[in-house]
Amino acid sequence: MKYSSCVLGTLTASLLLGAAVLAAAAEPNAAPRLVIKNARIFDGRNLRPERRLTLRITDGKIVEVQADESATSVGETESVTVIDAGGRLVLPGFIDAHVHPSIPLGFTALREADPNYAANRAAVEARAMLQRGFTTIRDMGGPSFGLKQAIDEGLIEGPRIFPSGAMISQTSGHGDFRSRDAAARAGDVPDVMENRGYGAIADGEAAVLTAVREQLRSGASQIKVAAGGGLSSMYDPIDSVQYLESELKAAVRAAADWGTYVAVHAYTPTAIRRSVEAGVKSIEHAHLIDDGTMKLIAERGVFLSPQAYVFGGAFPMTGKGAAIAIGLDRMMKLAKQYNVRVAFGTDVFGAPRVYGWQSKEFGARLQWFTPLEILRQATSINAELLALSGPRNPYGGAALGVLETGAWADLLIVDGDPLENLRLLEDPERNLRVIVKNGKIVKNTLP
Ligand SMILES: [Zn+2]
Repeated sequence: MKYSSCVLGTLTASLLLGAAVLAAAAEPNAAPRLVIKNARIFDGRNLRPERRLTLRITDGKIVEVQADESATSVGETESVTVIDAGGRLVLPGFIDAHVHPSIPLGFTALREADPNYAANRAAVEARAMLQRGFTTIRDMGGPSFGLKQAIDEGLIEGPRIFPSGAMISQTSGHGDFRSRDAAARAGDVPDVMENRGYGAIADGEAAVLTAVREQLRSGASQIKVAAGGGLSSMYDPIDSVQYLESELKAAVRAAADWGTYVAVHAYTPTAIRRSVEAGVKSIEHAHLIDDGTMKLIAERGVFLSPQAYVFGGAFPMTGKGAAIAIGLDRMMKLAKQYNVRVAFGTDVFGAPRVYGWQSKEFGARLQWFTPLEILRQATSINAELLALSGPRNPYGGAALGVLETGAWADLLIVDGDPLENLRLLEDPERNLRVIVKNGKIVKNTLP
């Protein structure tokens, strides 16, 4: 059992199980040792100037980054796997800041599906995400707690997951996936979509507090709230503003009391502004934002978490979607102008074809950002966003999204130079030659 990577709070684990942790770390097969040599390195922030670097990995963490000639040589008695990167670029594993592995079907199909079938489809999609180089994801709504547990226990392959649990929504809001005749009045039986953890319906401060605390009880690392109209939801116009100031503040306080934060789904300036004033730290989508609201986000240090591919022409954007497609260009230009921290998220869910678009987000951003900026978004900037979950960070024992001494050993070796041609990353099957997560090789096609 690997206590270092499991869901147990590290404090509790080290207090109660200190001896066991030490014993596990000392076991020779506790984690494979790995050396990667002859590497160029993008460390999550910048390209290192040295042409030939060596990374040493032990117990899932990077323990040394050194020029090849000054790196500790591999001891003869050590059981170490050595990968010669052949001068290729090594990058931190990618992070997807907005994705839904546990919504693998459309909402109508999900409602009818056997939950075990849905869970198995989620496991398949989680593995596929890891194979695309996403070693960490922030789940922005859906029942992913069991998926996360199975991955952390090593039962199945997949990324590290920062789960939100059910999206918290007012009646008729973006997270109201219930049938039209369902009601949330006291004493009524919750709808199947609530019971299975897709949406939590809560109206009024008291109900919002309960809904937030229920997600935290299940192990949410951050909270997702629907603060305005959505595309895929049935009952809410895009321009609708969801939740009163007092309800949003209640959600933020309940999250803050657990040391974490709230992310909201919001497109319009009114919904975004109300959320930011309530203390929300991450705005999902935001495609209809205006100049003044972007300025506010910049001043408050709030993260912008937009999607360029899924909402940028992947679907025919008609009806509700038409305005959102038009807003994308303006939003990205404003984000650059005000130097807002832009997260990298794809919002893929619902069907294998759509999940397959995950890597297309890289190229879709080239209209506004350089390859270096986009790579930072997908690694170190996303990691700063994840770190807002503070003590609720399930992987708080080391840094994510960077390649440096002490960080988690989540990394990729790529053919070609994505700093020159970022679209190489859109074909991960071919161009990602090595994928390492938690110090463990999950793909290696180098000779
Ligand atoms: Zn989403």
